[in-house]
Amino acid sequence: MIQLSKFPINTLKSQPKVSDNRSTSLLLQAGLIRQEMAGVYNYLPLWFKVLKKIENIVREEMNASWAFELLMPALGSKQHWEQTGRWDSIDVLFKVPASGGKEYALNPTQEDIVTPLIKEFIQSYKDLEFWVYHIQHKFRNEARAKSGLLRWREFLMKDLYSFHKNEESFQVYYDNQKQVYTRVFEKLGLGNDTYMTLASGGDFTDKHSHEFQTILDIGEDIIYICDDCNTSHNEEIVGDSFACSNCGSGNHKTHKASEVGNIFPLSTKFTDACGVKYADENGKEKPVFMGSYGIGISRVMWVMAEYFMDETGIAWPEAVAPASHYIIVLGEDNIEKASELAKQIESEWGEVILDDRMGRKDWFGQKMGDAELLWIPNIIVLSPKTLEKWGYEVRKRWEKEWAIV
Ligand SMILES: [Zn+2]
Repeated sequence: MIQLSKFPINTLKSQPKVSDNRSTSLLLQAGLIRQEMAGVYNYLPLWFKVLKKIENIVREEMNASWAFELLMPALGSKQHWEQTGRWDSIDVLFKVPASGGKEYALNPTQEDIVTPLIKEFIQSYKDLEFWVYHIQHKFRNEARAKSGLLRWREFLMKDLYSFHKNEESFQVYYDNQKQVYTRVFEKLGLGNDTYMTLASGGDFTDKHSHEFQTILDIGEDIIYICDDCNTSHNEEIVGDSFACSNCGSGNHKTHKASEVGNIFPLSTKFTDACGVKYADENGKEKPVFMGSYGIGISRVMWVMAEYFMDETGIAWPEAVAPASHYIIVLGEDNIEKASELAKQIESEWGEVILDDRMGRKDWFGQKMGDAELLWIPNIIVLSPKTLEKWGYEVRKRWEKEWAIV
């Protein structure tokens, strides 16, 4: 239970003006975030709750697909980044000088760390295949970080890495992850507007990679969706003239979109660089095939804020809202009753914000405003008036009418 009388963070009367997007203004106004510097944010308690809920939805799906969770460090050794040739080739790699003239990397991704890590455990065909994932903070040394969605210097990501005996078994797993990702975005309420999108495979593979793109006005990418078969393509692989890679049709719609996830075939690029091989049934040395699968947890949260925003606040889906109920209590004498109600709701439902702030005449307006700004799905009012008549009033946030309980 979050008792607002003890909660140190207040909402603001008006929206602070920021240069990029309105959801950032709303998040600042609601007391969910504060900026540390461009591209770096403090996540205040209610925002942190949303983050954890998104993280757990992702975690549940990863565990359900038999991936093992581990935690690799945010700080990486220069030796590992040199081994894969990326110490110099990634221009946004954060390089941190350390004592004794050493240097480390603040990892922007972990292929370079996980591959040497698992080398010890892959000897024979019996050790394959397997997959591990972690949820960790990542860093990019962006020259021009912006606030809001676009270029971040620090962000939270889930990444999964899979290792396989051959390309066929890799492909089976890769196709399965497409379904896992589709489920994740459906659970987050983004399913209707999130498209698996063909994108460039980079220099790792001659195949396409797949991005998961959510249609969004402020999105940083352009996607083309085929009118005839719904296949989505990133602008980067289509260029000026569109022809659907699946059905050949030229009819399409163009959307701005924001990337919330991506899955990559890596072939043997990293396993070869790190000398990871296995012995097959005949003792013959074979290359190990690899894939990586990312979901930007913090980015998803920002995309959701933008996607679910309306005139008054951010209409979080119930699965990720900071709390399930917001109880407005008026009258000092009623706090105990409200607190009991909150406990009852928490035992059966989800977390409650109890607005038990007292000492001002105009609290009702302020409290209702905060409840709407935070868009908690269920709002309950418990006041001398409601108690006299029937008990308390409750409404679903998206309904206009009050139901009386
Ligand atoms: Zn098509």
